[in-house]
Amino acid sequence: TPDVRQHMDRLAAEGIDVVRVIYPDLIGTDRGRDVLRGHLPSAVEHGLAFCCAVYHTTPRGGVVPIAGGLEAGLPDVSVHPDLGSVHALPWEPGVAWCLGNTTDPATGAHSPESPRDLLRTVLARCADAGLRPVVGPELEYFLLDEAPESPTGWRRYSRAVDGAVYTAGLRADPDNHLLRTLRQVRDLGIGVVSGNHEFDAGQFEINLTHSDALDAADRAFLFKAAVKELARREGRLATFMAKPFNDAGGSGFHLHFSCQDEDGRNVFDAPAAPFGLSDTGRHAIAGILAHAPALAALLNPTVNSYKRFGPNTLAPWLIDWGLDNRSAMIRIPPERGSGARLELRLGDASANPYLAIAALTAAALLGIQEAQEPPAPLEGYGYDPEKSRMLPMGLPAALDALEADTALVDVLGKSFTDSFLAYKRDEVARFHRHVTDWEFAEYSYHL
Ligand code: GLU
Ligand code: MG
Ligand code: MG
Repeated sequence: TPDVRQHMDRLAAEGIDVVRVIYPDLIGTDRGRDVLRGHLPSAVEHGLAFCCAVYHTTPRGGVVPIAGGLEAGLPDVSVHPDLGSVHALPWEPGVAWCLGNTTDPATGAHSPESPRDLLRTVLARCADAGLRPVVGPELEYFLLDEAPESPTGWRRYSRAVDGAVYTAGLRADPDNHLLRTLRQVRDLGIGVVSGNHEFDAGQFEINLTHSDALDAADRAFLFKAAVKELARREGRLATFMAKPFNDAGGSGFHLHFSCQDEDGRNVFDAPAAPFGLSDTGRHAIAGILAHAPALAALLNPTVNSYKRFGPNTLAPWLIDWGLDNRSAMIRIPPERGSGARLELRLGDASANPYLAIAALTAAALLGIQEAQEPPAPLEGYGYDPEKSRMLPMGLPAALDALEADTALVDVLGKSFTDSFLAYKRDEVARFHRHVTDWEFAEYSYHL
């Protein structure tokens, strides 16, 4: 088609000879295939065949029994390159990323496990309600240096500068990692605003611009892949796991969220109303609070995620909201007008951006459609369990909360949640069978 030809001409003009077609699996890892440019038109027409094990395979290589996988003999999924999403890699001349959409080759239907399609489905529901969600993602991560002497093989980058939050420049980042990364992700064209050193040594945050929710999820997904690739080029590891160290805080995935109407007006803004927030804004907050235990399953999707929660962490612990209050799970930043929004601080960096944004959007939509009312906002410093409900304290409880939240499951789709629960319950079971170093330290000597 002329459209494909135009894209092909552009790739040739930019000197791109390999297109890396990537898409998110259930846990948000980028999976893909390097396709020679000449074969791209055929990939667009027929799709690329991948083994469906991509949705069933754990990071350690085990295959998890999700419906439609093992018992079906691990059939194909088709991946269709979306040529509107080509991003030339600044650090790998001649190579570009291109996002793919997955379908079932037998039926042509979207795979229920596809995170990108799930988010699209939720956004279509919003569009039916006249709402266009806008999302601004913030991601924190730790940078690690190789350390053969350490039991994990890694140690924290620039170990000497704990408490260096907002310390810009070489004192906290002796190798200029942040500056280099910021420029590279800017050149990737994914809407990067700024970066800063976080609270703990070797921990950084980079903020992305806000945009339409699907675009924001795409950019957060590409951002994580880019940061990990760039770190590997330096022989380092960038990790987005929630809480990698006992002696440091966790890494958050804060999501700034608002909705526009069909004319692009921010519908959370209401200067004359209490808190300067509209009914719609208040209902969205109430929906997120009401569904928070289930949301945790998708925004805090690992066994490790629940070790980030706690009092005095700047991560949440309780299900609460507050006006410009960083000790609450939902903070309402002080801007109003077109900047009126909420910041959900629940998610950690290990979350699959598509699933996190889909879940947040679904909960807000339910709150809006049911005109739910939030309790009074938190006053002062939070973390008082007398005042608010607690978040689930572990992944099993969050998975049970998701399964029990029939309204949310209805928006996300039962075949997706069944697959997600199967995958995650397998992860929990594997963890419970594993003997940790804590157990050895606690029990081996005295008992
Ligand atoms: N690292 C904290 C978290 O886990 C957030 C710190 C901040 O407010 O930037 O959410
Ligand atoms: Mg931060
Ligand atoms: Mg934030």
